[in-house]
Order: sequence, then structure tokens, then C-alpha cells
Amino acid sequence: MTEPMNRQYYLASRPTTLPTPSDVPFRDVPLPEPAAGEAIIRNLYISLDPAIRGWMSEANNYIEPIAIGDPIRSSVIGRVVKSCSDLLREGDIVMSLGGWERYTRGSAATMTKLDENSGIPLSNFLSVLGPTGLTAYFGLLDVGRPLAGETVLVSAAAGAVGSVVGQIAKMQGCHVVGIAGSDEKCDWITSELGFDRAINYKTCGDYQAAIQQACPQGVDVYFDNVGGEILDAALMCLNKFARVAVCGWISTYNDPDAPGPKNLWQLVAESVTIQGFVVLDYQDRFAEGVEQLASWMMAGKLRFREDIVDGLDNVLPTFLKLFNGSNNGKLIIHNPE
Ligand code: NDP
Repeated sequence: MTEPMNRQYYLASRPTTLPTPSDVPFRDVPLPEPAAGEAIIRNLYISLDPAIRGWMSEANNYIEPIAIGDPIRSSVIGRVVKSCSDLLREGDIVMSLGGWERYTRGSAATMTKLDENSGIPLSNFLSVLGPTGLTAYFGLLDVGRPLAGETVLVSAAAGAVGSVVGQIAKMQGCHVVGIAGSDEKCDWITSELGFDRAINYKTCGDYQAAIQQACPQGVDVYFDNVGGEILDAALMCLNKFARVAVCGWISTYNDPDAPGPKNLWQLVAESVTIQGFVVLDYQDRFAEGVEQLASWMMAGKLRFREDIVDGLDNVLPTFLKLFNGSNNGKLIIHNPE
């Protein structure tokens, strides 16, 4: 029998704008043997996150850049096919840091076992019960600190993080306004997720006027997923002692010449707190977050969409959907066995 080969999409050169197939080509390499304490998993689900674009660059970030020649790094869910550790057995399903590749080799101690018979679809552990749900939960509640009756504004509001932020803010008793890039997304967040208002930033014209109209009492919490001109407009609508939770600046990730925000002086004018965060800051509280998100999900209080695309070979064009807004919810590659 021929040994299976491992198809890997790897970083050949660092993109300065949108990554192309020459930046991220593929190769087929023999499957290595696991060393003591390691396991090899067959990747079934590969999470596609905007952060991966940052890891392709050399700029300072919260984890090391992907080295040239290494597979593109991402969270994965896979089945153990070989194990040299007492912690994992062949057939176990695990979540791990892996890559855009068919198989990932890694330390078994860093892989988290999942129960494939729990009744919860495995992909949910990459979305609402995984990094994006936890980002929304901790970013909104710990960094944004919304109070009942306050106004919460969130950008990329129909996305994996933003859609959960808005629903949690509604559960806190807030007036919730989402900014998204299509009428379909705006309809979904208002009619199905319970947001009070939505702004289609591609058709609304003047961002600041649109935010002021949707937030007549001003903005107390701005959950920023996009940066750029939308951040500048939101800064002009903040109330005294508002909080800005900086989650991500996706509008700048492929634009090396993106200007910085112009209106930061509003922090002084309105005594505003602005704080960036990464979900990994909350690693020691993940169990609490997953438990709460799961209980809301089971109670039907938290809805979400997953945009699951079949086939490892679609990984790069699928990743680009994040940057033109054609993803509908948490973007995931499914690589069936
Ligand atoms: P989404 O599911 O929200 O997908 C990305 C969305 O961003 C697109 O669908 C698009 O929606 C919007 N977008 C893309 N380009 C632009 C642009 N130029 N201007 C405005 N909106 C744009 O992705 P995620 O939920 O995974 O990520 C959302 C944000 O959260 C990102 O900035 C990401 O980096 C950040 N993040 C941060 C984490 C942390 O720990 N701090 C963890 C996870 C994510 P639309 O159609 O509305 O334009």
C-alpha cells in the first residue's frame, strides 16, 4: 500500500496586499512519523480567520509570524491517525493548532479532545463555542463592559464575532446597532438576531450621520472589528466615559498604506477608554466562556451561521472571502475523510 502524502499550503513569500497562489502554493510531502509524545491528526475542519493574514506578515503580533516555508497556521479539528502518547488514541477527535494541510503532527499534550457523539456539530467548536464565540464573550463583557440601557455599536456585525457580540449585548439589555456590508446581512441581524438597528456601510453614505441616526442616545460601547473610516466615524459618536473594545482592524490587513485613525482626540473630549485585546488573554477562563455560550445556544438565545466550504484545495480562494465580505458567518474548510 502506498503511504498517504500530506498536502500542505505553505508560506512561500510574505504578501503585502491580498495573498496570491504564488505567496501560498501547495506541495505534497510524505507523512512523518510521530515522535514520543506526539500524534498525527487527519484534519477535518480548518478554521479560516482574519488573524491568519497578520501571521503571514513579519510585523509584531501576539504570536510569532509564520516562518517562510511553513504551512499556513490555523486552528483545526481532526481525527488522530497515529499516536505516540498515552494521552490520545487512534480515532480520537481533537482540536489543535494546525495548518492548511491534510495532516498535522503535534504534541498530544497541546491537543484538546472533543466528544464527537455529544450531539453538537464539531464545526461549532471553531465558531460559537470556539475562538470567535469566546472573543465576542470576553471582548464585550470584559473590555466593553456594557450596562443595561446603554447603546452598543458593533462593526462586521453579521460575522462570526460580531453576530455573537450583538446578541450578548441584547441579553444585557442594551440598544444594539450593527454595521454590515449588505442588505441581506442587515436583515439577518435585525430580523433573526434581534439587533435594534443595522447600517449597511456600503450604501449608507456618510458613516457618522448614519451612526448618529441609528444611535440617537450616542454610543456607550463600540466593539471595533474593522478599524479605518468606520472607526473614525464611530469615535465622533461616543458618549462621555464610552468604551472602545478594539478586537480587529480587518479593513487595514491588506493595505500597507492604510492611514491611522484621525479622531482619537475624542478619547480626551469624552473621557473614553480604548482597549485592545486578544482572546488568548482569557485562556484561563475559556471553560467559563464555553459553558455560558453553550447554555445560551441550547436555550435558543444565541444564533449563528457557519460558512463551510468543502475541500482543502479551495482554502486560499475561500480565505479571501473574509476580505470582500462574501462569507456568511464563521468561515471553515471541511476536508472530509
Ligand atoms: P467575520 O466572520 O466577521 O468576517 C470578516 C468580515 O469583515 C467580512 O465578512 C466583512 O463583512 C468584514 N470586512 C471585510 N473587509 C472589510 C472592510 N474593508 N471594511 C469593513 N468590513 C470589512 O470574521 P471574524 O468574526 O472571524 O473576525 C472579525 C474581526 O475580529 C476581525 O477584525 C478579526 O481580526 C477580529 N478577531 C479578533 C480576535 C481577537 O482575539 N482580538 C479573535 C477573532 C477575530 P461585511 O460584509 O460586513 O463587510
